[in-house]
Amino acid sequence: MELKIYNSLSKKKEPIKVYNNKVTYYFCGPTVYWFQHIGNMRAFFVMDSVRRAVKYLGYEINHVMNITDVGHLTSDADEGADKMDVASKRENKSPEEIAKFYWDLCFKDMKALNIETPEHICPATSVIDEIIEFVQKILDNGFGYITKNGVYFDTSKYLNYGKLGGMNQQDKKFGARISVDDEKRNPADFVLWVIAKDNHIQKWPSPWGVGYPGWHIECSTIGNKFLGEHISLHGGGVEHKTVHHENEIAQNFACTGHEVVDIWFHLEHLMFNGGKMSKSSGGIYTLNNLIEKGYSPMDLRLFYLSAHYSKPQNFTFEALDNARDSYSNLKKLILKHKNGKNKIDEKVINDYKEKFDKFVADDVNTPLALSVLWDALKNNLDSADIYNLAIEFDKFLGLDLDKIEEEKSEIPTEIIEIAEIRKQARINKDYSKSDELRDKITSLGYTILDKPKNEYEIIKK
Ligand code: AMP
Ligand code: ZN
Repeated sequence: MELKIYNSLSKKKEPIKVYNNKVTYYFCGPTVYWFQHIGNMRAFFVMDSVRRAVKYLGYEINHVMNITDVGHLTSDADEGADKMDVASKRENKSPEEIAKFYWDLCFKDMKALNIETPEHICPATSVIDEIIEFVQKILDNGFGYITKNGVYFDTSKYLNYGKLGGMNQQDKKFGARISVDDEKRNPADFVLWVIAKDNHIQKWPSPWGVGYPGWHIECSTIGNKFLGEHISLHGGGVEHKTVHHENEIAQNFACTGHEVVDIWFHLEHLMFNGGKMSKSSGGIYTLNNLIEKGYSPMDLRLFYLSAHYSKPQNFTFEALDNARDSYSNLKKLILKHKNGKNKIDEKVINDYKEKFDKFVADDVNTPLALSVLWDALKNNLDSADIYNLAIEFDKFLGLDLDKIEEEKSEIPTEIIEIAEIRKQARINKDYSKSDELRDKITSLGYTILDKPKNEYEIIKK
């Protein structure tokens, strides 16, 4: 079935295109200067849902995610300090140590949430030479200029600049303020290469002076390196629409002479206490915070699945409790069907599958796809056919449904009481009583294994 995704640029759902039989897919990755909270994780969950939709519907994929480990300033629009530089000074560690520490944590959370690893993960600092080449091409093609502070992109040269964010060049609110560099030609012009101040830690030689790349150029360069000049799908958080992706589009055109990305898609934010969940606005939770409170990563994944990526999702503990209850119901239903002996009419199974696939193909509609899983699982007849269908759906949903197993049954208190009396008998060296009680436990269907220091383990036979 053909996958259609809502294109933020054309404002229409469009079928994805393939290049050399593959969907080429880019998603803007994390800036590794701090913990990634569950808002950030919603972004990577969406990245994963789209990836899974592509694969589930039978396409091959080549997927790249960058890691920003240099050049992302505290404001997206070329102002403030470099986030990595700030973190290095804050934690008294090298930028490499900071990047590794926070990337490892982020990756661990992604794994726990069943977010599949893209074919390529590329830190910006690993492609500095390619970035310099990319900037040079932009200059050679007449889209850039050099000032005392670095190299800038001349936004007036790219006629479609502002189209994605729906703004025009007169709008002084977008792009950096001219005060940052008085040699800038237009307010929206953005930096491609920054000449480093003396105390800046991360810097490399370049034809324009020792410095470091602007934030936006890494994504164009990394996309070009791993996916080439045609990118089927490019995604990221909705805040990237007006600056970061606008700038990527302009850079891509300036380098290649044509538009590079077919479909731009954007996810809305995870909200908390009336605003976007973010470090600066206070209340954030990490996956670990939730695990400490007794929630599992799959509870959170099920919570994420319940909202479409194009809508903001409100985080509350009540909603997470509901997701936890739902996951526990899901487990019960899965187990009910797993050993079910009934045969379900093939047409019924096909109907479920057709509906499910239609929702996946229609702009990756996770909540509606999920509703088909529930419908199927609520079928009155216990059947392995339904179980197998759910496992197939889980290739898209990623809820670990195939790992759900009967929980080990609790040992009844009666057995534990007998075992405790036996333990006392052993301490008193009353071995005939101890043997008698062991036989009793065995006759009730349990085995007792003796451990050092009179400890024991009870196993159901
Ligand atoms: P950053 O590490 O700040 O570059 O953010 C990584 C990703 O998380 C970006 O794609 C952001 O758009 C996304 N993001 C940040 N906050 C939220 C949020 N509250 N909800 C959803 N996505 C978010
Ligand atoms: Zn990006």
